[in-house]
Amino acid sequence: MSEHPTSSDPSGIGTPDVRDPATDITASYALEPGYVRRLTAGVLASTGRAETTWAPATGQPLGSVPQSSVPDVEEAFARARRAQQAWQRTPLEERSAALLRLHDLVLDRQAEILDLICWESGKARKHAFDEPLHVALTARYYARTGEEHLATRRVAGLVPGLTRVEVNRLPKGVVGIISPWNYPFNLALCDGIPALMAGNAVVAKPDSQTMLTALLGKQLLEEAGFPTDLWQVVAGPGAEIGGAIVERADYVCFTGSTATGRVIARQCADRLIGCSLELGGKNPLLVLRDADLDRAAEGAVRASFSNAGQLCVSTERLFVADQVYDRFVDRFVARTKAMVLRAGIDWGSDMGTLTSQAQLDTVVAHVEDARAKGARVLTGGRARPDLGPYFYEPTILEGVTPDMACFGKETFGPVISVYRFSDEADAVARANAGEYGLNASIWTRDTARGRALARQVKCGTVNVNEAFGATFASVESPMGGMRESGLGRRQGAEGIHRYTETQSVATQRLIRLAPMLGLSDESFAKVMTANLRLMKKLGRK
Ligand code: NAD
Repeated sequence: MSEHPTSSDPSGIGTPDVRDPATDITASYALEPGYVRRLTAGVLASTGRAETTWAPATGQPLGSVPQSSVPDVEEAFARARRAQQAWQRTPLEERSAALLRLHDLVLDRQAEILDLICWESGKARKHAFDEPLHVALTARYYARTGEEHLATRRVAGLVPGLTRVEVNRLPKGVVGIISPWNYPFNLALCDGIPALMAGNAVVAKPDSQTMLTALLGKQLLEEAGFPTDLWQVVAGPGAEIGGAIVERADYVCFTGSTATGRVIARQCADRLIGCSLELGGKNPLLVLRDADLDRAAEGAVRASFSNAGQLCVSTERLFVADQVYDRFVDRFVARTKAMVLRAGIDWGSDMGTLTSQAQLDTVVAHVEDARAKGARVLTGGRARPDLGPYFYEPTILEGVTPDMACFGKETFGPVISVYRFSDEADAVARANAGEYGLNASIWTRDTARGRALARQVKCGTVNVNEAFGATFASVESPMGGMRESGLGRRQGAEGIHRYTETQSVATQRLIRLAPMLGLSDESFAKVMTANLRLMKKLGRK
């Protein structure tokens, strides 16, 4: 485990070699060891090595996760390939039925799932709830639409009536899924659901920090009736174990930072395999002068501080029309100040902790850099070791300028910069500045105007009068980034088609596509030319 409390913690708690029950009999795990062992039995690992995982909110150890080697990844692929051979022959109705059972299991076992997400990631329970919700929505959507998305399609042939063409959608084979720690349940599962529906197997490498939650996902898939070997989980460092997956997969689905996404894209290019990359963002939110300010302020709090800002689609730049700037900012600051911050897995917290020392370091560095260069802190701006080792207050900055790190770099924390604008075209240009293009949010009472403005924003998703959930939870709509925020789309038709190879099968009847009945090559060319003119006249595509 790379990230855990260290002796340099602001809180001073959580030195692992003192508190780890493996070395200190007075210490205890936060989770029942038998429960953890049942989960970690799902990792394919033969190294004999294990890494302790820690609860970021309290610094307490949670359990010990076996670590995989490159030969383990090899073995995971061998097992997955065998399972996939049988799975691709499974009728679509059986695959749908398993997904609908997964849907029910996720709802029935919601409390257990939320507890584990809260323990492992330290987020507030209300933010954890988005995860089983998204898994259930995705499972239902692909269960109900898989058949339609995967159906063989008849298309027009060269010679009408005589060339019959069908387009098949065949599974790619074994899909590699590499996922991050910030949404450990839904990002581990949701991209795999359409892969399974399309007849693939999966080898998954969740982030080391949140292995247990991802392993609960594997357990639920098995309980829903998916064959055990169809979903392999390996554990270990990103470059070594993630890299070994990229070297063997038939397709890679990666969610994480833009820097890692670039490395994976290069490796996939070398192997000539496809990949989808769900990467970082520096997402803008626009409050137009006719916005409902109370609604916009409430939405801006969710947009900025869900999961303490550790969310790819959360807002880090807020542009407000001059005419309403003061009234909006007053409301936004007041709502932010009223947020309840605390450790705990119950529903009583409005924002949980950052997930690691690395996250806290980035947030502190960005805020201190902005402060030193003249930005004003309207609220927040402090670490809160009294609440837990990595807690940081929700923070609103004003007067942020391009020389400050938080102006264009992704903070991935609870830090938002507020800017004024007087001209909407200028606001859109500023929202479009920088290299990212993941999500945007526009607040206005004129929703038609909001939608028109959305078309000018270079982001893969735009929410009008919502933060990010309206697009993300509408699982029929494609989700992903423009520019350096990614490649490809999850959700909707694109979300399942990426895991298929399209294959065209043409059956030719009666005539051959060459001169016949004694026709010379030249006469055949003339007949074909006449045919082309006729087809155009008939309006054929
Ligand atoms: P990261 O890129 O460091 O790690 C993500 C995953 O990739 C982890 O499982 C890690 O072990 C693995 N990995 C790291 N290096 C690798 C390599 N060389 N080869 C293969 N795998 C490797 O990302 P992170 O910092 O942990 O996650 C936060 C980032 O993820 C943020 O930038 C955030 O915006 C982004 N994110 C994007 C989305 C989205 O849908 N667009 C969703 C969540 C997070």
